Amino acid sequence: MTMKAETMLNLYRRHTKTCTKGYPQNHRVFQPRNQKEKAKDCECPISAEGTLTTEGLISNRSTRTANWEEAVAVAQLWLEWGATTQPETDQGDNPTIRYVVDSFLTSIGPKGRNLEANTQTGFSVLLQQRLLPWCQIKGYNHIREFDSLDVTTKFTESWVNLQPTRNRKEERIVLDQPLADSTKKAELERLRHFFRYCKERRWLEENQATKIKVTSQTKKKYGMEPKEQQRIFAEIAKFDGGSQNATELLAFCMVMRYAGLRISDATTLHDTQLVTRASGGGWAIRVHEMRKTKELVYVPIPNEVEQILRKVPFKGQQHGKRYWFWSGEGKPKTATNNWYTKVMKPIKKAAATKAFLHDVSPHTFRHTFAISHLNAGTDIKFVSRWLGHANTGVTEKHYAHAIHSTFVASDSAYDESMKKQAAVLPVSV
Ligand SMILES: [Zn+2]
Repeated sequence: MTMKAETMLNLYRRHTKTCTKGYPQNHRVFQPRNQKEKAKDCECPISAEGTLTTEGLISNRSTRTANWEEAVAVAQLWLEWGATTQPETDQGDNPTIRYVVDSFLTSIGPKGRNLEANTQTGFSVLLQQRLLPWCQIKGYNHIREFDSLDVTTKFTESWVNLQPTRNRKEERIVLDQPLADSTKKAELERLRHFFRYCKERRWLEENQATKIKVTSQTKKKYGMEPKEQQRIFAEIAKFDGGSQNATELLAFCMVMRYAGLRISDATTLHDTQLVTRASGGGWAIRVHEMRKTKELVYVPIPNEVEQILRKVPFKGQQHGKRYWFWSGEGKPKTATNNWYTKVMKPIKKAAATKAFLHDVSPHTFRHTFAISHLNAGTDIKFVSRWLGHANTGVTEKHYAHAIHSTFVASDSAYDESMKKQAAVLPVSV
């Protein structure tokens, strides 16, 4: 496709009888160049006329779209093909990668299934910005190279963030930033889709992309050290000159630290969630885990947490629920973000006097909750439920480095149980 070729087709709306702007039937109006012309534009189908290298002169040939951008894309394809239909190729059963990519993108484009614009963009990024350049570097020309799991794997490992964040202050571009797990999964899903298309056409023996898995790199979660926690709570007590705002902030942080609530759940905590314990005395917090498991989470809390909550006036009310930390108006997400900023203030102050062992953010309160319980030898099953994890596997993945103590506790629980069973074991000699 050359720039010169682009001048060879003219695009215009060929108005129909039912034209919304009342243009006469078959009248031509070309692509609007400014706002004034745009206002006069309608929804009639776009046609093309001009010369194509193979097909020759064409006139009033419908592009089968009423969208200018799509029509331009169609025209470009026609110019590339030299015809209004895709030419038969002699690519045989091992076409070039470039041919396969073009063929696939056409099949999902306006001339084909016309998938949603976002979907099309996703595929063209994967195929044109990742696959083609990579193959060029590696010297791979034919699609059959991807019948190798090794080649396919190496290709998926080459993916980096194509829009690395720019450090504004220094205008420094961070290169080779790895893809986020979620993006990598989406890319892999697209690659599988593309290879399936190739397999259906017998251009590939197997869809090697289905054998590749994205192993999510779950980071270890660290809690704060007891002394670090002390310093942070001391800063919270001084917050806003130790006013009512300090009490409120302290209550908020205690809910995260001693009930293990996520910052979003702490933000929307309301009075009906505070309940008396199942065992009778004391208090517990109930949370509808909305994010993942959708199960009801029940966490016992120390009396101090209940007491401080009673000292905090309600901020808002909605549907009979009284909220401590949210006005009940606007998006909870916005309120959560505001709390994040607020909690970071005392954390930063505490960090300024002495650096923390690991990074500390509001989430660290929840991690500290989990790790402290695990370190105390609490059954991971309970900790997992308090956190609202779908299963203990999730908990283990995050906090594996803190689980040794639970094994020690499990040893003594076993021995205790055996004592109660008064079991006599048959001993072989
Ligand atoms: Zn019209």
